[in-house]
Order: sequence, then structure tokens, then C-alpha cells
Amino acid sequence: MTVERTLSIIKPDAVAKNVIGQIVARFEGAGLKVAAAKLVQLSRAEAEQFYAVHAARPFFKDLVDFMVSGPVFIQVLEGEGAIAKNRDLMGATDPKKAAAGTIRADFAESIDANAVHGSDAPETAAVEIAFFFPGLNVYSR
Ligand code: GDP
Repeated sequence: MTVERTLSIIKPDAVAKNVIGQIVARFEGAGLKVAAAKLVQLSRAEAEQFYAVHAARPFFKDLVDFMVSGPVFIQVLEGEGAIAKNRDLMGATDPKKAAAGTIRADFAESIDANAVHGSDAPETAAVEIAFFFPGLNVYSR
């Protein structure tokens, strides 16, 4: 399997619950490494740009409102099959449908406040990583 990088966001609900460390431990426990990380408050413009693919969806305003409601913890995760591995650890978008033991099943309350974001494909991972970590501050180890 190929070593990949993926973008992970621990969303405002999980940051507010003080479970950043518990979620990062799941990534590390599954063999993913943190290659870059920062805690930031997104601006509305950043959140709208990041989720631009959903701009026409009825939930877009709720999604942006939620993503700017508090700080988020953004990471680049690296490892073999990192994109799919992260998606498996996250669980389904709607926490009520997420498999037992996944991050969303254990930490999320609703489809809006669903604890984590993870890139869904190599192309989107590259775009999302460049969006939040432009330049050379992403480390391979
Ligand atoms: P993800 O890749 O599992 O995060 O899901 P998507 O990329 O499809 O959607 C992005 C985010 O938009 C999700 O994580 C949800 O927070 C939100 N979202 C997606 N679908 C819905 C929906 O039907 N209703 C609401 N309220 N939010 C949604």
C-alpha cells in the first residue's frame, strides 16, 4: 500500500469537549503519524472556501455556522493508506449510522456536529492540505 497524506479536522464540538488528545490517540493507535497540526479559529470566508463543493446544498449555511462556532484542530496525517484509514476511523457522516467504536459514534452528537473531517480522495487531500498548510511546514517522518 502507498504512503499517503490526508487532512483531518477535529471540529468545534470535539475541541469544546476537550477530546483532541483522545481522537489523536486513535489516529496514532492505527499507525498514522501527525505530520503537521494547528489549533485555529476559521474565518467565515475560509470555511466557505473549504466547503465550496457543498455551496449549493441546503445545509451549507448550517455547516459554515458550525465550523466557525469555535476553534478547530487541523492536522496532516501520514501513513499507509492514510485516506481510507482515517475515513474508517471516523465512521459514517451521520453519527447515528456510524459503526460502534468509530470516532463519530463515540464523540459526535449530530450530522452537523460530527466531530471530525477527513479528506475523501487523493486529489481532495492534496487540495485540502495545500489550503491549510501552504509552503514547507509539513514533515515526513
Ligand atoms: P464527510 O466527508 O463524512 O464529512 O461528509 P460530506 O463531505 O458529505 O459533508 C461534509 C459535512 O457536511 C459533513 O461532515 C456534515 O457535517 C455536513 N453534512 C453532510 N450532509 C449533511 C446533511 O444532510 N445535513 C446536514 N445538516 N449536514 C450535512
